[in-house]
Amino acid sequence: SGRGLRGSQAHSSPTHVAVVGAGLTGSLLACFLARRGHQVTVYERRPDPRTAAAERGRSINLALSERGIDALRRVGLHERVLVDALPMHGRMIHPVDGELDFQQYSIDGQRAINSISRGALNNALLDAAAATPGVSIVFEHRLTGLDPLVFATPAGEAKASADVVIGADGAGSAVRGQLLGMGLIDESVDFLDYGYKELTIAAGPDGDFAMDPGALHIWPRGTSMMIALPNPDRTFTCTLFWPHGGTSSLASLGSPAAIERHFRAVYPDVVPLMPNLVEDYRLNPVGLLGTVRCGPWQAATPGGPVGLIGDAAHAIVPFYGQGANCGFEDCVVLDRVLDETGDDFAAALPLFEARRREDVEAIATMALNNFVEMRDKVASPVFQLGKKIEHA
Ligand code: FAD
Repeated sequence: SGRGLRGSQAHSSPTHVAVVGAGLTGSLLACFLARRGHQVTVYERRPDPRTAAAERGRSINLALSERGIDALRRVGLHERVLVDALPMHGRMIHPVDGELDFQQYSIDGQRAINSISRGALNNALLDAAAATPGVSIVFEHRLTGLDPLVFATPAGEAKASADVVIGADGAGSAVRGQLLGMGLIDESVDFLDYGYKELTIAAGPDGDFAMDPGALHIWPRGTSMMIALPNPDRTFTCTLFWPHGGTSSLASLGSPAAIERHFRAVYPDVVPLMPNLVEDYRLNPVGLLGTVRCGPWQAATPGGPVGLIGDAAHAIVPFYGQGANCGFEDCVVLDRVLDETGDDFAAALPLFEARRREDVEAIATMALNNFVEMRDKVASPVFQLGKKIEHA
């Protein structure tokens, strides 16, 4: 109750903002909002990841690039986050047979994207949010109702109130679902026929990296593709992208022998580096890949303004490594429009969408196109001739 009454006076009297989701975007957003003097409560469905065990096979690392680093820099977090980052200066193409081919990302070879642990990044952001005056983080609270705010918790249902609600609750956003149910927004979700599975390349016998840690490794195979990013513990996390079903698909390898046979034929150089290939393949879940488009990204509900940010507003396929970077950049843009509107959320949220939508639609399309590039074109002779020229 009282949501929406704040208007432009909010600059002097802080707004109570409920951020739903303490993932990468929500925890960074909490830092930005609290720095502006707002009172922020972050509600997260899961237990505190700083104390709970990690889930199996769920995007262990990700590539952080300048857009994301710029956002972290603005809240003084970049140095802490980049301490353990492994810079990747180019991509290393692994053909079925023949020589490796390194294609650097920049003409001078100096620029890099950074492989970082998703868990460590999320924990650093949570620590930073929790240490910012004005932020409280509540775990094991799953949003089930928006107006009024209702959460499912281990102790039963909990009600809450806030002046403004921002959904940073990821691709399957419950906040978006609620707005949809209220007829306030539209959405489309396009899943690819492809899924992904994570596998691990172990450290070599000498304890060192088994491959070059200064590259993002790609095994382009046309209808399938595998990539690998280095981890600080000298392993690599591989992500295999392959159609869900059909004769050649994630579902088609039904036995340990079939798994071994397929990898020996298609990814021969990694088999000796993957001691747990069969176990990983059988136990790790298959992830979904899709593009979420919805609009508008905000609505005036009877209880006050509600907005969407990060994957909740615009999940994209991962082939440009830009989803998290994009969510971080969202935080910067929202911070800027709050500046311009004197912290009037009802005015800032539509302005945020107006500023941001075109860029987000562009990266969504580029990410889809880059899948074709990565699984196919990087291996073509034409591309290799031009490899000194930066190609996005
Ligand atoms: P999420 O990370 O999904 O966080 C949402 C949070 O909300 C979660 O903590 C969740 O538990 C919580 N939540 C959900 N529902 C509720 C609810 N009802 N109530 C309360 N809390 C809730 N991006 C990059 O920039 N670089 C990469 O290299 C990269 N690689 C990727 C590889 C793969 C295989 C995939 C799938 C994605 C990759 N991404 C990458 C994209 C990136 O993971 C996402 O864009 C990013 O995680 C989005 O952050 P978010 O905080 O918006 O959403």
